[in-house]
Amino acid sequence: MNCRLCQTALPNLLLEPTAPANAAARAHVAACAACAQDLASLQATLSLLDTWQVPGVSPYFDQKLAVRLRELQSAPSASWFERLRMHLQLNTGRQFRPALAGALALVLAVGGGSFGIATFQRPHRVEASAAVNDLQLLDKNQQALQQMDQLLQDYAPANTGTGDTPPQS
Ligand SMILES: [Zn+2]
Repeated sequence: MNCRLCQTALPNLLLEPTAPANAAARAHVAACAACAQDLASLQATLSLLDTWQVPGVSPYFDQKLAVRLRELQSAPSASWFERLRMHLQLNTGRQFRPALAGALALVLAVGGGSFGIATFQRPHRVEASAAVNDLQLLDKNQQALQQMDQLLQDYAPANTGTGDTPPQS
């Protein structure tokens, strides 16, 4: 047994020192000073907890609680806003958990859906360097100029013929 396994077995060894299942941990603690020190520290903590006394309830607790309840029952009923505020302050949030889970699921669905669409539209987006971008831009410009030249050459004979002649009136 190594030290990491022994650390996980220390609580069992502390609670059941003579159990056969803890024999390996017991042997390791006997041979390893660090694990023996950890076991001693755990034993000290446990014995300190044994000396702790739970504080008793005040003898007047029940009477004070009954008086307080009577005061609240006889008080004029609070407005709906006050009741809502008390409810929000005192609740544990348990009844909001389904709504919160639904909202989170909605966020996940919307976000995940748009993410899926975005990645589907651009499946192979590669970050290009600035030089590659410039070369691609030059290439596109050159193609555009060639197409422009082609268009001008195509339209040139037509223009000299009948295209640009002003209308005769
Ligand atoms: Zn050890």
